[in-house]
Amino acid sequence: MWFRGRRVKQTTLKFDPALESAYAVERFTESRQFVRGNLLVLMAIMVAVFATDRIVMPEVAALPALAARLAYMLPALALAFGMTLVPRAEYWYPRVTPVIAFGMLCAVLILGLWAWQHGEGRLIVRPIFAAIAIYFMLGLNFRTAVVVNAIGVVCFLLLASTWAGMPGDELLFSLSTLLLTNVLCIAGAYKLEHAQRAVWLKARLLAGYALQDGLTGLANRRRFDEHFERIWKQGQRDRKPVSLLLVDIDRFKDYNDRYGHQAGDEALKALARVLAASVRRPFDIATRYGGEEFTVLLYDAGMGAAAETAESIMLGLREMAIPHADSATGRLSVSIGIASAIPEAGRSAAGLLQLADQALYAAKDAGRNRLHVLEAEYEHLRTGSFERRPIGDFSPVSGK
Ligand code: GH3
Ligand code: MG
Ligand code: MG
Repeated sequence: MWFRGRRVKQTTLKFDPALESAYAVERFTESRQFVRGNLLVLMAIMVAVFATDRIVMPEVAALPALAARLAYMLPALALAFGMTLVPRAEYWYPRVTPVIAFGMLCAVLILGLWAWQHGEGRLIVRPIFAAIAIYFMLGLNFRTAVVVNAIGVVCFLLLASTWAGMPGDELLFSLSTLLLTNVLCIAGAYKLEHAQRAVWLKARLLAGYALQDGLTGLANRRRFDEHFERIWKQGQRDRKPVSLLLVDIDRFKDYNDRYGHQAGDEALKALARVLAASVRRPFDIATRYGGEEFTVLLYDAGMGAAAETAESIMLGLREMAIPHADSATGRLSVSIGIASAIPEAGRSAAGLLQLADQALYAAKDAGRNRLHVLEAEYEHLRTGSFERRPIGDFSPVSGK
C-alpha cells in the first residue's frame, strides 16, 4: 500500500517510526474503552476461578493459588485497568502491560504445574486461556503478544522439565497443546492487526485527500477555510498581523484555449510548486482556492513581508518562463491581491478575504502581472470573495 508517495510495508506489521508512533497512540486511544471492558471481564473470571479452585485445586496448592491471585493477578489487572483511565497513558500502557501479562502467564504456569505435581493434571490447560487473553484481550500489538507468549512457552518447557519433573510424554502433550494454541492465535491476531492497520492507513489517507487538492497537491479550499479561522483567532490572541495573498493566473482561459487543457494543468502544477516554496513557517499555508486561483496565508507578517512573498512568487514564476502568447509579457504571469490586518474586534476573516479580493481586481484592472496591496478599513466593502464582476465595478478603500 502507498502512503504519501512511500510504499508502506504491511507484511511486517510495522510502519516507519513516525507513522508507527501515530498509529500506536491512536490505536490505544481508540481501543481504550474496549480494553477496559476486557480487563473487567478478566477480573471477573479471576474471581470466578476462586470458586472452581476450591473444588479442583489440591489442598496444598490452594493457598498459594489464592495468594497469587490476591497479591498479584487481581492488583496487576486493576493496574492495567487504571492505566486505561489515565488520559496520557498511551506511553505507559504498552510498556507496562506486557510485563503484567508475562507475570500472569508465569503465575498460571507455575500454579498449573504445582497442581499437576500434586496429582491434579487438569489445570495444565489454564495457560491456554492466558495465552488467548494476551493475544486478544489486552490491546497489545501483535509483536508484543508473540514475544510474551514465546517467552512463556520457553518458561513452561524449562519449569515442567526441571522443577516439576514432568515425564517426556506428558511434557510433549502439554507443550504441543500450548504451541498449537499459539499458532492458531498468531494466525488470528496477525490477520486482525493487518486489517486494523490497513483500515487506519486508509482512513488517514482519506482524511488527507479531503483536505488536499488532487491536481496540485496543495491544501484545498476546505483546509484553507479551517486554517484561516484558526490563524485569525490566533492573531486576535497574540495581536499579530495576518496577511492574505490571492493569486490569480492572467488570461488563463486564453492559455487553455491555445495550449490545451493538459498544458493548463501543467501550468497550474508549476505555479503550485512556486507557491509551496514561498511558505516556510509552520502557520503559513498555500492553497488552491479553486480553478486557477490560489491563496497564500501568512501569520505574523505585515504588509511589507506579504509584498515580499508576492514578489518572490512572481519572480519564481517568471524564472520558469512558461510561454503564453496571448499575454502581454509573452509568458505566464499572475496578478496578486494582498490584504493585511491585525485581527481586532469588528474585523473578520471574511472581511480580510474581501479586501484581498478587491486588491486582486485592482491588480487586474491596472494591467495584470502585478501585485496590489490593501489594508486597514474594509467594513463597508461591497463585494464577496472572488466574486466575478466586470472590471471597474468596485472601489478600493486605499491603493498601493
Ligand atoms: P484573468 O486574467 O482576468 O484572470 O482571465 P482568466 O482567463 O485567467 O480568467 P477566467 O476566469 O476567465 O478563466 C479562468 C480559466 O481557468 C477558465 C478555466 O478553463 C481555467 N481553469 C480552471 N480550473 C482549471 C483546471 O483545473 N485546469 C485547467 N487546465 N484550467 C482550469
Ligand atoms: Mg480567476
Ligand atoms: Mg485568471
